[in-house]
Amino acid sequence: MIYLEVIHLKHVLGLRCIFCGQELAAKPGLYTCPACGRKDGILDVVYDYSVINRLISREQLAHNKDNSIFRYLPLLPIKPDTPRPHLRVGWSPLYRPSGLGRLMGMDKLYVKDDGQNPTASLKDRASIIAVIKAKEENATTIACSSTGNAASSLAGSAAAMGMQTFIFVPSRAPQGKVAQLLIFGANVISVQGSYEDAFALSAEAIDKWGWYNRNAAINPYLVEGKKTVALEIAEQLDWQVPDWVVVSVGDGCTIAGVWKGFQDLYRLGWIDRVPKIAGVQSTGCSPLVDAWRENRPWQPAAENTIADSIAVGVPRNPEKALMAVRDSHGTMLAVSDEAILAAMRELGASSGIFGEPAGVTGLAGLKLLIEQGVISQNETVVAIVTGNGLKDVKNAIEAVGEPLKVVPSMAELITKLQAGNLV
Ligand SMILES: *Cc1c(COP(=O)(O)O)cnc(C)c1O
Ligand SMILES: [Zn+2]
Repeated sequence: MIYLEVIHLKHVLGLRCIFCGQELAAKPGLYTCPACGRKDGILDVVYDYSVINRLISREQLAHNKDNSIFRYLPLLPIKPDTPRPHLRVGWSPLYRPSGLGRLMGMDKLYVKDDGQNPTASLKDRASIIAVIKAKEENATTIACSSTGNAASSLAGSAAAMGMQTFIFVPSRAPQGKVAQLLIFGANVISVQGSYEDAFALSAEAIDKWGWYNRNAAINPYLVEGKKTVALEIAEQLDWQVPDWVVVSVGDGCTIAGVWKGFQDLYRLGWIDRVPKIAGVQSTGCSPLVDAWRENRPWQPAAENTIADSIAVGVPRNPEKALMAVRDSHGTMLAVSDEAILAAMRELGASSGIFGEPAGVTGLAGLKLLIEQGVISQNETVVAIVTGNGLKDVKNAIEAVGEPLKVVPSMAELITKLQAGNLV
């Protein structure tokens, strides 16, 4: 342990401001660049890759039985001996569902089902890092604002760690997610307003009471947790990098994490190229897609989409998100809510995977990118399903309609099944 501790201090060089480029020493309470401020001064964790290469290798990983994000401990900005919650986060399955492949006319289509995390979304990858960092900084109370999943995952990780949480959610957060919060013992504040309102109020409260801040864009360590999804994709494909990764975009931290993960692997020399990354939003809320398409700074947008997890009119990590798309030579596009509902239906029926609306938005985008000829059907593509559909049953029913209703009579069953051409 002492040996690892010394090495740990060496593998993180510091934090670099993505706006002004200044490098800062990591220290408790430092989340954003003091010179550039909270909005622009987003920080990125800088590693010493030669140190990491001495600590971990692809061959060692092949024998590592830790099926969680902590198999990549030397690539994470945490101390190896800080207590960790018992929850198993990460190492979600990477499927190659043949039914979906046939439907899409693709042979090398993979689905990374991150709905299989402890609280059923990719956000667990960030939240578990948040509670560990909070512990390292001796915090006992941790807070965030969220469209839903960041909150429920934080509440779950904090419960497992024995920490108190204050969670600010917008009034439209789906009931499934609010139920998770309450079950995990969070202090839940339902802000009667937009996500922007919830975010602003949480920021003031965090300042006032000095809670640990899990707001993802503001906290540079959380993207490091999210990047593990990319590390896993590469390892699960035996270090053969896909041509494309498609993922939904709200604040922009998830797509930034995906890019950071592949960047890390490239700099370690473990992969010989990086994938193109496609970021997908809903047409009802697409500030980053609009900025990308029109090659201009982003502007606040309305939040009119059923995909609540990506209904983010004022994205908190816009620059990191746009950099991921630009630097990977990827693309961005928006899909309608109808296309999102169709993707939920098609993914479920063809492959037995249940995604929430934002969870399948990447897949809906892939369909459009194939129609447009941007992605070809013989390319290798990974679609990340970022959250489980049970979180939002209302929209699932919206996607598929109500079941066939019959009185308990065989005669009626026959009539109705025949009427529906089902038998
Ligand atoms: C948060 C979330 C996203 C988007 O992640 P950002 O970091 O906000 O871009 C996508 N899908 C689901 C299910 C999410 O919870
Ligand atoms: Zn700066």
